[in-house]
Amino acid sequence: MGDNVTKPFDSDSDHSNVAKDRTTSTVIDIEPETESESPSVPTPASTSLFQSESDIMANFDDTLQRARLAFASGKTRNVSFRRKQLENLLRCYEENECDIISALEADLRRPKQESLIVETEFMKNDIKHILYHLSDWVKAEKPSKSIINVMDDVQIYNDPFGVVLVIGAWNYPLQLLLVPVASAIAAGNCVVIKPSEIAANCAKFIAEVIPKYLDNDCYPVVCGGPSETAELLKQRFDYIFYTGSTRVGKIIHAAANQHLTPTTLELGGKSPCYIDKSVELRTAVKRILWGKLINCGQTCIAPDYILCSKEMQDKFVAEAKDVLKEWYGDNIQSSPDLSRVINSGNFQRLLGLMKSGRIAVGGKYDASERYIEPTILVDVKPHDPIMEEEIFGPILPIYTVESAYDAIKFINAREKPLVIYVFSNSNKLVKEFKSNTTSGGFCSNETIMHCGVDVLPFGGVGMSGMGSYHGKYGFDTFTHKKSCLGKDLSAFGEKLASARYPPYSDRKGSFLSFLLRKRRPLPNFYLTHVLAIGLGVGLTVLANYYLQVRKGKLLSR
Ligand code: NAD
Repeated sequence: MGDNVTKPFDSDSDHSNVAKDRTTSTVIDIEPETESESPSVPTPASTSLFQSESDIMANFDDTLQRARLAFASGKTRNVSFRRKQLENLLRCYEENECDIISALEADLRRPKQESLIVETEFMKNDIKHILYHLSDWVKAEKPSKSIINVMDDVQIYNDPFGVVLVIGAWNYPLQLLLVPVASAIAAGNCVVIKPSEIAANCAKFIAEVIPKYLDNDCYPVVCGGPSETAELLKQRFDYIFYTGSTRVGKIIHAAANQHLTPTTLELGGKSPCYIDKSVELRTAVKRILWGKLINCGQTCIAPDYILCSKEMQDKFVAEAKDVLKEWYGDNIQSSPDLSRVINSGNFQRLLGLMKSGRIAVGGKYDASERYIEPTILVDVKPHDPIMEEEIFGPILPIYTVESAYDAIKFINAREKPLVIYVFSNSNKLVKEFKSNTTSGGFCSNETIMHCGVDVLPFGGVGMSGMGSYHGKYGFDTFTHKKSCLGKDLSAFGEKLASARYPPYSDRKGSFLSFLLRKRRPLPNFYLTHVLAIGLGVGLTVLANYYLQVRKGKLLSR
């Protein structure tokens, strides 16, 4: 690392156009070397880039046609078939763990430990969770019935949607794609799998390896960038699940709207983190910095900025310097434990954002490695670029507020975040934030970890997304809940129901009103109690009777 490449951030250097580039080029802006690494056509199941528009359309037509025929054949409705595919996917993760880690290292210079926790182990656990519960999830639900349906079969049948499209993002290129894919398979759909072209090595891995484990007609992989995805979106899907930026989310939603295709959009935004003075600061600083720096800040649920008092800001900065030294040593760039920025477009964008406020910690960078030192900015203003767009990098601005009330006001004046973090020892204050703000998720005294709780839904609200997944919520996302009523044609049932037929009369009308009247259902809880009390009373009466009989017999002797 020479002095010529690593330098303190020069706030006078001209990056004035960089922040603006974000809206037009972060997604589309692929580095030349990334493009050349884009996946080719390794198997018949993956559709390639670099073809003419009509070739691409013909390929997509063919891929979709095969998937539709496969769905129509009914094989994905078979639960054993789904289970087998999921077991194969699990085996794929186990057998190719080293290749997955290498691909992530090549794309993001991701440390092995992070790749294990947030990609391979996460994906394995997700599939195991599905396999443990699938037989329960697929069962039709039997809701409690009202008196009018007491003799009927009332059920919610779990129907797959059909052929669904899952589009992944580059920052967690496997997990964000393959976890929803596993949910869609579990729910009985055929799935068109579209990795992000920006994490080119991971896209190559997905295109080459996944088809070796999954049924190729039911689960094809298609590759490509924005133009290929635009072509793909002209096809009619039965469901679209998209992860990525809010800007592209709007494009996906508009395309889906052409066919009234339901969508889940897992988007981004700015997730705030409030710290109050009651916290144990060292632990809070570690948890916040870890959440900010894992994957070099390129995490949709990274704490985007901090809200705290001026006093807490000074303490946070001092503690953060110490923690960073403990984690990465004196020369952070030489530490193997910090990922790199995905590409030069994002690197330049981040340098532009570093011009906001004043650098209190860090600020160095090296374009040759797309390295940015963990950086804390203070004295930022609400309308600085860093406070207006999602950061998605290792930069943490602190905006000072007078009180928790001011922090809530600040948050509520902006788009609804993907998650809100609150660090406080006061349960009352945590509750204040939870009940007076809206966000996709909420997490107190911790960062990131809420997304690993597989019994919780994960998703955004408003501009941070719509719909959710993970565990059962993923299965439900890819399932159409078909409401089914089954009756018989018995004479008794027909007699009861015949009051609905003309000629109408007051007698028939009042009989129908009686049958249809909404009654508070007897909760199961009460039912078991009533049965237990009834049983107790019955046994007591029987015992008394028995004693009386015996007493009578004794007296008569
Ligand atoms: P990206 O560039 O990888 O794009 C995501 C997908 O959209 C890719 O498959 C890409 O090919 C496709 N795409 C890009 N431009 C398109 C266009 N014009 N038309 C059609 N398709 C297009 O990822 P990104 O958008 O840079 O991802 C970063 C964003 O994603 C951040 O805002 C982040 O917060 C968000 N994100 C959200 C979640 C979540 O779970 N909510 C997870 C990860 C990332």
